Amino acid sequence: MASIFSKIIAGEIPCYKIAETEDFFAFLDINPNAKGHTLCIPKKEVDKIFDLDEATYNGLMQFSRKIAIAIEKAIPCQRVGISVIGLEVPHVHVHLIPLNSMEDARFINKASMTKEDFETTVNAIKEAL
Ligand code: AMP
Repeated sequence: MASIFSKIIAGEIPCYKIAETEDFFAFLDINPNAKGHTLCIPKKEVDKIFDLDEATYNGLMQFSRKIAIAIEKAIPCQRVGISVIGLEVPHVHVHLIPLNSMEDARFINKASMTKEDFETTVNAIKEAL
């Protein structure tokens, strides 16, 4: 069965899309640690990051770096952190999280964001790309 992220890529489930290439896709995390929390994924559906073939792994990192630089321009933060967990969704995803404190990296406290907040945030990151 297709993962929830494959359904997002296919446009079957809505998302706040930031960018897309032939092989990769970036969108806002729906339950963000902090405003601007973004997920970068390969379109190829693989569960664990270190099972990716080397070219896809390196491509995902290059793509994530571009997105992270745009997030850091668009969202006030000390830096953008990177994290890979994958315990919830079995489709490789890189979390890019604007950090102002260690709490923002802990996946415990969540930022409450309205639809308007998500729209403003996604547009700001897209403009910074
Ligand atoms: P994990 O697999 O533990 O790395 O976490 C999966 C992440 O995907 C969580 O941060 C969720 O908030 C996020 N997530 C799950 N479903 C969606 C969705 N439909 N749109 C955006 N983010 C999602």
